Amino acid sequence: MSKVTLAVCKVYKNTGRFRLHRKNTKTAWKHFFLSNDYTDEYTFGTEWVDSVKAQFLKLKKWHKRKFICPECFTIFTTHVKNDRTKVNCPNCSDEESEEDD
Ligand SMILES: [Zn+2]
Repeated sequence: MSKVTLAVCKVYKNTGRFRLHRKNTKTAWKHFFLSNDYTDEYTFGTEWVDSVKAQFLKLKKWHKRKFICPECFTIFTTHVKNDRTKVNCPNCSDEESEEDD
């Protein structure tokens, strides 16, 4: 069980998909993450968090980075914890990895 934090944003709670937020609605922290709680695959999810937890999550937020494989020169993007993290090329390794864009 693990969660990978992608973003922590302050968003309006009453915002719907097709309507704008009303005046005087409160903003709240929303946590966007990938989790593999139930399966081996990472699934995207969101949850509301309080401001204290939001600051904590920001510290361990993962970053989107672009990499070029030195073996096959494939350019790929992935989320890493920091710039020293080693990543596997999706072309050269057997492991399936997340594909954004
Ligand atoms: Zn490669």
